[in-house]
Amino acid sequence: MHGIAAAYLDGRSTRRVSVEVSIGPAGVSILGDGMQRLVPWAEVEIGERTRHGPRRISFADGASIEAEDRAALDAALDAAGHGDSAVVRWQQSWTRTLAAFVLTVGVLTAGYLWGLPAFARLAAPLVPAEVEQTLGTQVMQQLDSSYFAPSQLPREHQERLSAAFARAVQTALPEDRRPSYRLEFRKSKVGPNAFALPGGIIVMTDELVKIAGNDDAVLGVLAHELGHLHHDHVMRSLIQASALGAVAFVIWGDVSAVLSTVPTVVLHAGYSREAEYEADTYAIDFMNASGLRRAAVADMFEALRKKRGDDPLPEYLNSHPPTEERIERFRR
Ligand SMILES: [Zn+2]
Repeated sequence: MHGIAAAYLDGRSTRRVSVEVSIGPAGVSILGDGMQRLVPWAEVEIGERTRHGPRRISFADGASIEAEDRAALDAALDAAGHGDSAVVRWQQSWTRTLAAFVLTVGVLTAGYLWGLPAFARLAAPLVPAEVEQTLGTQVMQQLDSSYFAPSQLPREHQERLSAAFARAVQTALPEDRRPSYRLEFRKSKVGPNAFALPGGIIVMTDELVKIAGNDDAVLGVLAHELGHLHHDHVMRSLIQASALGAVAFVIWGDVSAVLSTVPTVVLHAGYSREAEYEADTYAIDFMNASGLRRAAVADMFEALRKKRGDDPLPEYLNSHPPTEERIERFRR
């Protein structure tokens, strides 16, 4: 096979030796001027593809080669499976760079003019379902390793609640508006809680089931979480909380950019008052349509308020304060 013309620099002198380079499965072989050398891939470092100047390949011993015919070398490297990494390829694709730039400017402008919520509202529905699912699954694993243990709620009780909720969803929502969701029961190390994760995961802790006291109240809490999912509150707060990290997430589905933000958002920060109001509205409509007893939720709130006393608020009550107004809405 004919080699690619290149200059060989030994890294110790400034002498340039004309050689022919071939790229193979074992490595880079160099032939010329009395030299015959095969450098294994482990000792090869390929310089980034730049727009100008020769393409450079460096070796572990300090030597390097430079090829004037960049295209030939690039093609040979690609054929051997040692082309650029996805990141480098992406950096070179100026259309994607432009898209990222426009979106970044968009975020900053939206942040400046209307605040990030405006951007989050537009961007949340654009996140592909499978990206949300990946994110939700990873967050669930993360939470399981630090906050939760397997549920100790009797299996019959879990199954009864799951079946009752599935029936209520069937009754309350027309087929085309039934969201896909997955219930996860857990024992909590951080007290009573219930929350929704990206990808339709709804987590309910044993402690909250106990406090709720009866199934209708539990179903009301689940319906409230379904409301958060329906209104994209989860993705919206994530995008808001991680700001520019969210750009990477929305365009490239880069989950790592927002992963660390999720536990804070779902466990501690909660949603805006407006989002809570929307989720309550959804829950109330849902309970009405499926014949669940709304007053059960109001009773639960009142019991929680009495029980609270001087204890610090558990996270769930911080993010879902049992105010007079909320109780009244479920009671009416
Ligand atoms: Zn809520």
